[in-house]
Amino acid sequence: MSKERFEELRSQLDEVNLEILEVLNRRAELVSEIGLLKSGKGTERFDPIREKEMLDKLIPANKGPFPDDTIRHLFKQIFQASLGLLEEEKKSLLISRKNQSQDTIVQVGPLAIGGGDPVIISGPCSVESAGQMEAVASHLKNEGIMLLRGGAYKPRTSPYDFQGLGKEGLKILSETAKRHGMVCVSEIVAPEDVEMACEYLDVIQIGARNMQNFELLKAAGSVRKPILLKRGLSATIEELLYAAEYIASRGNDQIILCERGIRTYEKATRNTLDISAVPILKQESHLPVVVDIAHSTGRKDIILPIAKAAIAVGADGLIVETHNEPAVALSDAKQQLDLPQFSTLMNQLRQSGFLKDAVQANS
Ligand code: PEP
Ligand code: MN
Repeated sequence: MSKERFEELRSQLDEVNLEILEVLNRRAELVSEIGLLKSGKGTERFDPIREKEMLDKLIPANKGPFPDDTIRHLFKQIFQASLGLLEEEKKSLLISRKNQSQDTIVQVGPLAIGGGDPVIISGPCSVESAGQMEAVASHLKNEGIMLLRGGAYKPRTSPYDFQGLGKEGLKILSETAKRHGMVCVSEIVAPEDVEMACEYLDVIQIGARNMQNFELLKAAGSVRKPILLKRGLSATIEELLYAAEYIASRGNDQIILCERGIRTYEKATRNTLDISAVPILKQESHLPVVVDIAHSTGRKDIILPIAKAAIAVGADGLIVETHNEPAVALSDAKQQLDLPQFSTLMNQLRQSGFLKDAVQANS
């Protein structure tokens, strides 16, 4: 073979390589587009039947010189690479830092949660009466607290325990908050109640026991209210992030994540506060992260150091349960602060510089 012919064939080969490269990437783009359409419908992206169909069309078209087995093997590699592409895509969730470098700020009335000073969310475990809510709310408002909590639908371990006042509880909470110029948050447990709750609430809470109630997550994603999503009792950080993605994928990006302790063998605290979850969640996601210092510990005696720890690791807020008469509270009596104890905690946090403003409204 002449030297010229050799060079010519080599340069043709280089050209074919470039063509293959272009065609492969065109194929990858198509796969991505199909994957996006599929994920929009909630279908599984990996489709072995479709892979077989594609091979069944390719093999009869093979005119050689490659034998069929080689073609099968090569295309399997191409399919595999496309799946790898989808895996990479899956990692860049909507709630991921990779998608958005700046912190999401969830605006709740006058309160901005995320990207600034930590906010305090407080109120009783359960809404019990208008009088109780009034007593707690007026005290909290005097302390500069803007976000009032109170459970109306209580997911209790025993069916014989107080289950909450339901819609009536939402009404009491909402009216009390409005009267004091506050905003309010409460847990909703049924997907069909999410829309109704929007009438009363400024933030809808999804509780630990419902973190993987996917129908509830989808319902929360369909409304345009901020969602406070609590970590499940035995949920991993990844599972919490995927639960948040369920909400975001439906178009609601106003999500606040909450670390509220996980179940371990330790009995000294009600749950084990996974303090490292806070910086990890903030690193992995752009969403604000709050720490529930009541349910995570279930103890009042260590609430100050725990509050400080949460703020020190970057929490955007704290949830503290406060009751006017904790001893007779209908739920979580042991862990709720009374009104003077709440004020003491706030003073201690302010004096030590962990909390800045006397009044929390920051917009
Ligand atoms: C609550 O905040 O009222 C509550 C029940 O918390 P959790 O879902 O974290 O147990
Ligand atoms: Mn409680």
